Amino acid sequence: MKYLNNTPRSEWQILAKRPVIEKRNLDDIVNNIIDKVRIMGDVALREFTLEFDEFNLGELKVSPAEIEKAKSQVSEELKQAISVAYNNIYKFHAFQKVTEIPVETMEGITCWRKNVAIENVGLYIPGGSAPLFSTILMLAIPAQIAGCKNIVLCTPCDQNGTINPAVLYTASFLGINQIYKIGGAQAVAALAYGTESIPKVDKIFGPGNQFVTKAKELVQKNGIAIDLPAGPSEVLVIADKNADAEFIAADLLSQAEHGTDSQVVFTTNYEPLIEQVNLALEKQLSTLPRAGLAKKTLENSFSVLFNSVDECIDFSNVYAPEHLILAIENPTEYCDKILNAGSVFLGNYACESAGDYASGTNHTLPTNGYAKSYSGVSYDSFVKKITFQKITPRGLQNIGATVEIMAQAEQLTAHKNAVSIRLKKINN
Ligand code: NAD
Repeated sequence: MKYLNNTPRSEWQILAKRPVIEKRNLDDIVNNIIDKVRIMGDVALREFTLEFDEFNLGELKVSPAEIEKAKSQVSEELKQAISVAYNNIYKFHAFQKVTEIPVETMEGITCWRKNVAIENVGLYIPGGSAPLFSTILMLAIPAQIAGCKNIVLCTPCDQNGTINPAVLYTASFLGINQIYKIGGAQAVAALAYGTESIPKVDKIFGPGNQFVTKAKELVQKNGIAIDLPAGPSEVLVIADKNADAEFIAADLLSQAEHGTDSQVVFTTNYEPLIEQVNLALEKQLSTLPRAGLAKKTLENSFSVLFNSVDECIDFSNVYAPEHLILAIENPTEYCDKILNAGSVFLGNYACESAGDYASGTNHTLPTNGYAKSYSGVSYDSFVKKITFQKITPRGLQNIGATVEIMAQAEQLTAHKNAVSIRLKKINN
């Protein structure tokens, strides 16, 4: 990791730029994929699966037999772990379902807001470099709590045309049976526009690589709702002298192993920790099966020494990390100072992977600085909030003149008339 010492504030914006290994023609590549899927449907999906996932796909939909086989391949230990994670994620997201009480804004005028589920949702489950079955829990649980009617799942198959058993088991554990073996931008296009096999949905959810994220961005321009730009994972750790270098290294590596387009950042006000973390990184790296990926990510990453924890937090607010770990003394005292972050982990024992899998919070989070304006996926992502109002004759008498004056001032006479005509009747 590159080491930086007290980078001045004037350079923070540049430092906060992610190392996007963006293909210069990413837009063209993904636009071409989307257009082909729109025009050729399943034929294009099969062509792209052959090209990118190296499998000549027949049936796109996962069969009940494949799901049954997967169930028998997943260990009892993993099934138990999935069940514990399910309970925590369910509990945390169920509490987000709040029924708002009607508000009387004036005598005779009552307004309220109701959550209504989005009917058809598409979940993208990444599967290129790791089978992220945990993402199914993160997306399907809030979708089910919200009451989404149709849940369609797309995930890439491997070179043998199969999907990791844990992915299929988790989907079936959640009662999802519309599972398609399609990945990448082509899956996003299929969900956005529909094909012979894959139904069109109203909103697309889920993280993915640059092709997936770009496809979501492009279909959104054509009016398809998406959850958020959730691209390559990242973590920023803020540590003081109370932190444990081994813990920090483990957390940095847990994001670094995602893929070479990820980035990890370590900031501290305690200089000796920089060297200690570097040593711990080297030691732990050598034990990781995905050491190659993690090492490349570390080359795109940096540690930076600041004068104080407050300065580290100021930098973090500019960087707006997807995951933020506060490995500092009394971390809760700093919560109000966190302005931009996807999900925050407090203290030496709140490791990020707990949130990735099982503590209860969602792991589909904004990356690449989008935490400045986006929240992660939650129950709210799966509902529309429809407003209602009820106005009695007395209510209209109370508000009528206000509306008439404002409509007149905007020169919208028909708007004014809609009130006047009623008031006339009430007053007769
Ligand atoms: P993926 O499923 O996103 O992408 C695999 C697909 O990419 C393949 O099926 C293929 O169709 C397509 N593809 C590969 N090479 C291509 C090419 N040259 N041209 C066009 N399409 C191509 O899986 P992945 O690649 O492992 O990426 C998963 C990503 O998700 C990682 O970057 C990880 O960091 C990120 N992630 C983010 C979050 C979050 O909340 N932000 C959570 C989990 C994972």
